[in-house]
Amino acid sequence: MRGAAAFGAAGATGLLSSPLMAQAVGDTGALRLPPRGEFTIAGAHVMTMDGALGDIAGGSVHVRNGEIVAVGKDIAGGGEKIDGTGMIVMPGIVETHWHMWNTIFRSFAGDRLEEGYFPTVARFGQQMSPDDIFQSTRLSAAEAINSGMTFVHSWCHNVRSTAHAEADISALAEVGIRARHSCGWPQGVPDTQSADQAPIESLARDWKSWSNDGLITLGMAWRGQFRAGPIKPEVYQPEFDNARKLALPITVHVASAHKAVNQIEPLYKAKLMGKDVQLIHTLSANAAELDMIKESGCSVSVSPGSELRIGYGYPQIGEMLAKGIPLGISVDTSALTGSSNLFGVLKLARDSENAKAESEFKMTARKALELGTIEGARSMGLDDRIGSLTPGKRADLIAISPNTLNMAVVTDPAHLVLEATAAENVDTVVVDGRILKARGKLVAVDTPKVIAGARAALAGVRERTKWR
Ligand SMILES: [Zn+2]
Repeated sequence: MRGAAAFGAAGATGLLSSPLMAQAVGDTGALRLPPRGEFTIAGAHVMTMDGALGDIAGGSVHVRNGEIVAVGKDIAGGGEKIDGTGMIVMPGIVETHWHMWNTIFRSFAGDRLEEGYFPTVARFGQQMSPDDIFQSTRLSAAEAINSGMTFVHSWCHNVRSTAHAEADISALAEVGIRARHSCGWPQGVPDTQSADQAPIESLARDWKSWSNDGLITLGMAWRGQFRAGPIKPEVYQPEFDNARKLALPITVHVASAHKAVNQIEPLYKAKLMGKDVQLIHTLSANAAELDMIKESGCSVSVSPGSELRIGYGYPQIGEMLAKGIPLGISVDTSALTGSSNLFGVLKLARDSENAKAESEFKMTARKALELGTIEGARSMGLDDRIGSLTPGKRADLIAISPNTLNMAVVTDPAHLVLEATAAENVDTVVVDGRILKARGKLVAVDTPKVIAGARAALAGVRERTKWR
């Protein structure tokens, strides 16, 4: 099959990049992010995810100062030469809605009603300190890089103080991932009370100092009109208006389950939709509501890993793509999904579409990978910067090694990448021209320290809640 010949090299040992490695900083254990150097990955199967460039067998990608300079088969290249023989090089995976602050509760949602996701997260989330948020988000960000995500949307709905929000952002910055931090409300705040706007206003005032050189952008995570029940306009409207006043993108869960009907039309009628509003889930959208989403310019994020797990039902991926609605795929929460490798979630997205249609051919593997790259970037308003390997874009890319038991014997690259990529196959990860994973190892993250920190944070929450 096409491209298969490129994968014969059993000797691929990973990409070598010693001059571009991270250096330890003092005795803090934190690693300084590596410099943005100049390098050329050569001889790889390059899946550009750019409609004009397509796939390039034996292709090269030239990166300089964080930018993709050239992509092609016979480019001159420059800087450090990196042998990509036997590798699949593609854009980094784009994640679009993840409650990274609660990853310390990984797989914690239990099997009985009172142990379900919402009561669990509300009860234990209220006991979290800023450092607990930092540890949880840093664990998530490290997992993201390790499994090939180069952009995440940290959907932070446990902002108990400005320091809690700052902790979330600091963790993203330390790991070096490209991200949006959407600043929300604290777990446990009554639905009769507007969220404190001081944290988001403080961040917006001084955003340049938090943005990690422009890698992180700010948004607002909004409760919307519906939680357990309806929320009154005097509660939700000031929150929404403040986000608009600050010119921040807004994100909101709405119509999350198929049984949560009639939530999108009220949003539309109240003029709470628009190009600056991302809707999460929208599983119950009827045909008229899909038209409202399209007309308003909203983007949507669906998270089949959590939606199937919690019983919300199947997402309407094909329906939204047919309308031309910008769509991204997301993790949502590791408390429900456990491992948060987005390749697995993208596979579920394709599989759920095929299951609904009772067809092997409803969604192609290539389309699912587009949702995880260029379409996800478009849904976050970032497709002019990331999402494809296009000269002029920022250098967010990954190299996948199929030289393992779970990926060897390469046939069709798109199917293989979608159906088989595990974190162990992600050999190299580059964010904004910085090599953050090389030869299968994170180079700017002290992994044992990240794990120990997250475990200690969870132990502290257990102690403070007398949870045995
Ligand atoms: Zn969510």
